[in-house]
Amino acid sequence: MKILVPVKRVLDYNVKPRVKADGSGVDLANVKMSINPFDEIAVEEAVRLKEKGIASEVVVVSIGGAKSSETLRSALAMGADRAIHVLSESEVEPLAVAKILKGVAGEEAPDLVILGKQAIDDDSNQVGQMLAALIGRPQGTFASKVEVEGDAVLVTREVDGGLETVKLALPAVVTTDLRLNEPRYASLPNIMKAKSKPLSTKAPADYGVDTAARLTVLKVVEPAVRQAGVKVPDVEALVEKLKELGVA
Ligand code: AMP
Repeated sequence: MKILVPVKRVLDYNVKPRVKADGSGVDLANVKMSINPFDEIAVEEAVRLKEKGIASEVVVVSIGGAKSSETLRSALAMGADRAIHVLSESEVEPLAVAKILKGVAGEEAPDLVILGKQAIDDDSNQVGQMLAALIGRPQGTFASKVEVEGDAVLVTREVDGGLETVKLALPAVVTTDLRLNEPRYASLPNIMKAKSKPLSTKAPADYGVDTAARLTVLKVVEPAVRQAGVKVPDVEALVEKLKELGVA
């Protein structure tokens, strides 16, 4: 079984985003970037399937600027075998990402594609679903458990009020939720080993995809500053205060 894992380079989740002065987006100059946390979970899941002898190869792919190769190297250090870097210095929107991934899937013929449920920079939550539609394969989104059973995969999903398990015929598309696993830290020897693992570079045009923007960002603003709270002496005063604020 071959597993394809798309990984995106995003603003590190510990970094507080700063909006650019002109409100056109988030300032990414000189800030720490990392592998999207949900994609790290996807890599971990794929590597675990390989360690269990279920998967034979884990291929990671990233679409982005030159530095996305660093993100791919960290996925290789976690245990992926091979990487594909689809180089694009301009931002690639979710539909174009899904179209490129369709091209990669066409060449690689993976049995399973495991993506993150969303990229934490734009929170789109679109690529996995669109890829499944484009390649005409079943999807199991927000997975909290993944079990391969013969030529099918059982995906347990976190839904409102409980868990749902779906059975998908392979090849299939799965997207990861936070509780699927806890990704490992790459060891120093594995970081060194990752440097010599194969990484091929492609362009969106190799897959016939035009990455011109279709979406227009109107404005990006910082969240409103939180108002200071007030202390109330007792429950009556609390109810009074809530009435005063029009929330009770
Ligand atoms: P999104 O729909 O943009 O929230 O992203 C969902 C998932 O699609 C991510 O967790 C990644 O697995 C994958 N993905 C999105 N953008 C990229 C990209 N530029 N390169 C590789 N994978 C991506």
